[in-house]
Amino acid sequence: MTETVVEHVDILIIGAGPVGMTLHLALAAGGQKSLLLDRRPRPAGGGASGSSTLGVREAQQTDPRALALSHGACQLLEQVNAWPTRAATAIETIHVSQKGGFGRTVIDRADYDLPALGYVVRYRDLAAALAAQLPPNALLDGVEILDITPADDLVTVSLRHAGQERRFETKVLIHAEGTPDDDPHVKVSDYDQHAVVCEVTPTPGHGKRAWERFTPDGPLALLPLGNDYSVVFTLPPAKADAVMAMDDDAFTAALQSQFGSRMSFSKPGPRSRFPLALRMRDTLVKGNEVWIGNTAQTLHPVSGQGFNLGLRDAWQLAEILLKNGVDRDHQGVSRWDESLSSYAASRRLDRQGSAFFTDRIVRTFSNDFGPLKLARGLGLLALDLCPPARHFVAKRMIWGARAWP
Ligand SMILES: Cc1cc2nc3c(=O)[nH]c(=O)nc-3n(C[C@H](O)[C@H](O)[C@H](O)COP(=O)(O)OP(=O)(O)OC[C@H]3O[C@@H](n4cnc5c(N)ncnc54)[C@H](O)[C@@H]3O)c2cc1C
Repeated sequence: MTETVVEHVDILIIGAGPVGMTLHLALAAGGQKSLLLDRRPRPAGGGASGSSTLGVREAQQTDPRALALSHGACQLLEQVNAWPTRAATAIETIHVSQKGGFGRTVIDRADYDLPALGYVVRYRDLAAALAAQLPPNALLDGVEILDITPADDLVTVSLRHAGQERRFETKVLIHAEGTPDDDPHVKVSDYDQHAVVCEVTPTPGHGKRAWERFTPDGPLALLPLGNDYSVVFTLPPAKADAVMAMDDDAFTAALQSQFGSRMSFSKPGPRSRFPLALRMRDTLVKGNEVWIGNTAQTLHPVSGQGFNLGLRDAWQLAEILLKNGVDRDHQGVSRWDESLSSYAASRRLDRQGSAFFTDRIVRTFSNDFGPLKLARGLGLLALDLCPPARHFVAKRMIWGARAWP
């Protein structure tokens, strides 16, 4: 029997989703090499002569999600040349209201002297823009991870790729595999809600306005995307089953009844659904392993925080690893150990603040309890009438962590 050759990589990243790819590019911009691994296979005929990034890019073509990205996130992506300018639609105002209750507030970019409050892009366009920046050999796709063995100062990862077993030794293993399955280190709090996602055409046009409408079934978000709206229609699982099974006319009528009559909708595109839960990993760093993006925390999409937060994870980790890089001094691994602990500490406020903010919004607004409805209406009215309170909320949407006190 032949021994598997051990390959050495300073930094190994499992998961070439938007968070893993951003981390790779941010490290590369600082001169630090890393290798991305993704389980998604290259489609047949997709890469014999092409780049190895093609498979992941094409596999992501099927994801129907649109992401609302903050102004701050857009600035970070621009720094790695991965901002998909032509595929992005600006949000100039956000209208927040509740179905069947009074109170509403409008957040306007003009109050913040910004070109936009944020931008909307399809997940697949963002993934393609990031993948297009990856250098050749940055990614091994279609891999199956067979084993991960941590030791004192190295982690060994065994995997199968193209029918062959390979073994890597790495100084830092980063997990960016997205939402985790059952895992004793992840606390799960189910929302008993599913998000039905689809694109619809509004009449009149959207005027770059996003809508967040709270209904007893769950929040309804409309994000401007090209000439259309990307809809995130949140519902209890049984109602989501029914909505998924409707024909286009019935679906449009159901959407219209939740939204109201200010606008009419037509031409709904294909629908997809996502079960929703809050998933928080208990530790971000263990030995030489780090968890970032959705694998560290998966939030409800109501306030569009998930990828924005994951992007800040990737950015902060890259900055810390680059600052204490092995090639820049001779202490190497031990300095990385220290920096991994400082990474975990530096992310605490941002991740807990974002998770708490999102969770409170969902739980406060997703019910039909009379006194709460009144309190919500008063809250929305207060936000509208009190600029400092509105700015507090708006700044967190625009800047994320930088806006926490
Ligand atoms: C309906 C909906 C709407 C949303 N809207 C917004 C929004 O408006 N704004 C926002 O900021 N966020 C939003 N989010 C959240 C956002 O989609 C996620 O936070 C983001 O996609 C996380 O990126 P990621 O790279 O961590 O994980 P993913 O996008 O899940 O990527 C993970 C990658 O890891 C790979 N992988 C998984 N397991 C393995 C394995 N064992 N081995 C190798 N590779 C593996 C996968 O193939 C994939 O490529 C929304 C989410 C949903 C469901």
